[in-house]
Amino acid sequence: MAKQNRGKALGRLASRGRGTCPVCYRTRTKLLYQRKNADGTSISVCKKCTSTSAEVLNSIKPLQAPIAFRRRHRKVFNLYANQQKEKESS
Ligand SMILES: [Zn+2]
Repeated sequence: MAKQNRGKALGRLASRGRGTCPVCYRTRTKLLYQRKNADGTSISVCKKCTSTSAEVLNSIKPLQAPIAFRRRHRKVFNLYANQQKEKESS
């Protein structure tokens, strides 16, 4: 059996098959597993989220703000937070 989710095959995918999981918001994780929404749109999720229930998949909302799990992201997150504050005050 060829290993579809490892090695060279990943290099050909967009951003090497990695990204932020829409279910658990893990960053830089492999998004190689397809799940179907209630609308029929397929969502690519990480390995740990392959067995999530349909209810969870249907309640996914696109991220509004940057997430601050890692140091690099925290910087962007703080910038975003400051922008929001300025908007509220003005
Ligand atoms: Zn996930």
